[in-house]
Amino acid sequence: MALTGIQIYKFLPKTNCKECGFPTCLAFAMKLAAAGVELSACPYVNDEGKAALEAAAKPPIRLVTIGAGEKKIEVGNETVMFRHEKTFVHPTGLVVRIKDTASADEVAKAVEEISGYSVDRVGMTLGMDGFAIQNESGDAATFAKCVATVSSQTDLPLILMAGDPAGMSAALEKVGDAKPALYAATKDNIDQMVELAKKCGCPLAIRSSDGLNELAELTEKAAAAGVKDLILDPGIRGFADSLVTLTQIRRLALAKRFEPLGYPVITFPGEGASSLDEEAVLAAQHIAKYASIVVIDHFTPALALSLITLRLNIYTDPQKPIQMKPGLYQIGEPKADSPLCVTTNFSLTYFSIAGELESAGWPSWLLVCDTEGLSVLTAWSAGKFDAEKIAKAVKGENAAEKMSHRNVIIPGGVAVLRGELEEELPDWKIMVGPREAMAVGGFLKENWKN
Ligand code: SF4
Repeated sequence: MALTGIQIYKFLPKTNCKECGFPTCLAFAMKLAAAGVELSACPYVNDEGKAALEAAAKPPIRLVTIGAGEKKIEVGNETVMFRHEKTFVHPTGLVVRIKDTASADEVAKAVEEISGYSVDRVGMTLGMDGFAIQNESGDAATFAKCVATVSSQTDLPLILMAGDPAGMSAALEKVGDAKPALYAATKDNIDQMVELAKKCGCPLAIRSSDGLNELAELTEKAAAAGVKDLILDPGIRGFADSLVTLTQIRRLALAKRFEPLGYPVITFPGEGASSLDEEAVLAAQHIAKYASIVVIDHFTPALALSLITLRLNIYTDPQKPIQMKPGLYQIGEPKADSPLCVTTNFSLTYFSIAGELESAGWPSWLLVCDTEGLSVLTAWSAGKFDAEKIAKAVKGENAAEKMSHRNVIIPGGVAVLRGELEEELPDWKIMVGPREAMAVGGFLKENWKN
């Protein structure tokens, strides 16, 4: 909701009838501004008020979906310029371009490698999000054949790239209900592309070769013709100009509520780069500011890992750290006499210590305390990781019944908790582990005698 409580209040009846469950219309308005209640809770808002409030509640950047099924890409709906203001919502879709001039074998090999690529990060399995297939040959039949090959080998979403509506139409026949994005409508072909997008119910990318004014005119034309799911390509490719232009688009959409540019943006870093390294850096820039879909030309596992990690960091809600569910985890196949280590439920902390225990070859019990996703020292200094909490977790998880020993290892960073914890757990020996996760293997080798 972009309006403040006071602005919303102006549209309410101001009778304070309490039917909405709030004592006054102002109280209801304040709650509505904080998205804590639905407008429909007040039965007395007139049509004019409803229209105004609903228009204000409309996301400034439209949510656009590419593909269908579980792996569809959803982009847009962003509401802030900087992630620390609130959060970025829909992670940038990372897509690999395949040209129809490649041989069938090359295409099949690339699709297999890219579709099969995955990486585990903080408990999530991540990978590339789709393919953009380009009609480089200029031939409709060749393009359709290439699209059919890719489509038959992957369930990742597709972007079909053809300037010729006939080629696009032939390719669309090969993808069934896959709902690919169509790239791109320009001032020369917009009428035909709009008709195709309407016919197949697919999102349509709009490309301008003459700046943001032309881009806005084209999106208005497409929207007026009935295609609402649009994607912007401002036609800018370099480092500085794409940074400036993508920032302008985001500002116009959010700060000015300029609807013709209130759509997700697609970029092609390979077209603005003179080397593979430059493509990687430009792709990273676009993920940070402000591309919703980045199409890369050269896939390598190293580049994918870098971009996926960067994207994960940028699109993590800064107010909600990635968390593990509190509980007693098994690292490897621990036995009753295996070490019991304690940590917090900040995902990075968990995966650091779990990874070190695993690579050091120590099957262990890892007790994860609920610290609201904070790391060890932050949680301790915030009063969320203390002796009482650790003792409660040890008892709550019935550690004494699962283990043949009574030794619990706390992180070295909170050695100060040892005395209090000894009081809380009088039957247990409290061991102070290393400050850094990477030292846990050496610590156990020297100190674990069970
Ligand atoms: S139901 Fe509507 S008119 Fe009545 S108090 Fe709530 S907001 Fe005001």
